[in-house]
Amino acid sequence: MNLFLGIDFGTSGARAIVIDAEATIQTEIKYPWEISDDWVDVWQQALFTLLASIPAALRQRIKAIAINGTSSTVLLVDAAGKPVDAPLLYNDARGSVMLEQLKSIAPENHTVVSATSSLAKLLWMSQLSTFSQAIYFLHQADWLAFLLHGHLGISDYHNALKLGYDVEELKYPQWLENLHIPIQLPEVLPPGKPIGKLTPEIAAKFGLPHDCLVCTGTTDSIAAFLASGAKSPGEAVTSLGSTLVLKLLSRTRVEDARYGIYSHRLGDLWLTGGASNTGGAVLRQFFTDAELKSLSSQIDASTASQLDYYPLLKPGDRFPINDPNLPPRLEPLPDNPVEFLQGLLESIARIEMRGYELLQQMGAEQLTQVYTAGGGAANNTWTAIRERYLKVPVVSSKNTEAAYGTALLAMRGLRSSEF
Ligand code: ADP
Repeated sequence: MNLFLGIDFGTSGARAIVIDAEATIQTEIKYPWEISDDWVDVWQQALFTLLASIPAALRQRIKAIAINGTSSTVLLVDAAGKPVDAPLLYNDARGSVMLEQLKSIAPENHTVVSATSSLAKLLWMSQLSTFSQAIYFLHQADWLAFLLHGHLGISDYHNALKLGYDVEELKYPQWLENLHIPIQLPEVLPPGKPIGKLTPEIAAKFGLPHDCLVCTGTTDSIAAFLASGAKSPGEAVTSLGSTLVLKLLSRTRVEDARYGIYSHRLGDLWLTGGASNTGGAVLRQFFTDAELKSLSSQIDASTASQLDYYPLLKPGDRFPINDPNLPPRLEPLPDNPVEFLQGLLESIARIEMRGYELLQQMGAEQLTQVYTAGGGAANNTWTAIRERYLKVPVVSSKNTEAAYGTALLAMRGLRSSEF
């Protein structure tokens, strides 16, 4: 049976997952990394080590590969694909000095008007002395795929969204073209589209089939959405990790940079979403994971708590309340830790509910079902509380690994090439 490989380049490491044609996992390999001052070298090492670590018998049957990177992790490369300077990582905010310029060129409330957007980073990099050596501007996933297929200057419309690419019209908008930035912006294809076969050198080096296709990739959070199993309009994925991230699949697109709301294109549908600073990091401030488990089991999920908090580590939230000074609200503090935890879990569930309400008010599809990912997904008491507020079924994700979602993309890539 044909196999498909998805590789996830996340925030703390890389991971490879090989699936078969029935989407069953055949092998899963992790490659954690430390903070580095040579990221390009770390990524290349991670990619090649992961490929070499897949059992040879599986490697021989891999027919398509796709890679996801972190959104807005970008780099400049020369005509041979060699990076001319250090990449800028997803959370690098040095582009904040370009915000005024961005506001003057991009439409109001556009996704690129953010200190960490790919376009803010490109404008910042265009002032570097090394910029004159650069020919191509690429995202992390584009460059890593290039190492496998050898074609430069190709991206996908998930990675290219925060560069300003118009995912509705499928072209770079005129206001971006008017900037005349002396660099080759990537040609943008749909995610999971075959770009080409492996280079003969890579196929030989890793014992991969010479006709194995390399497909365009995606970003880590969309890959995790794809892994969840959600696919119909109205289905959503809530990530209960350190923060609270909502994604709702919709037939309509919604955008509002003030709330950090934007939509990714997913075939004929739109993946709308927003992220709140509340979430598991606040729970961890008060409880260990073991305490969360034991105290949660003592909560009566069917009865509402009277406590109304807005759990934050520090002032400020953007979604569903856009207020950079919003104070954390964690009072009154009851003596009983079970009561306190119930107040926290209910309050986060209410913020989740308000988030989905806001997306729907802005025109997104009516919520029908919520899949859950992240550390909080295992908490059945919380699931019951959330179901009470959200008034739709709350279910576990099929899989929560981005690498799994990216392997599914690779599978679709091969299938699309067969027609
Ligand atoms: P991230 O990748 O965003 O750092 P994870 O998805 O690994 O986060 O989830 C970690 C979070 O999950 C922690 O902040 C922790 O408070 C929370 N968490 C862990 N166990 C539980 C639990 N039983 N109930 C609720 N939250 C939990």
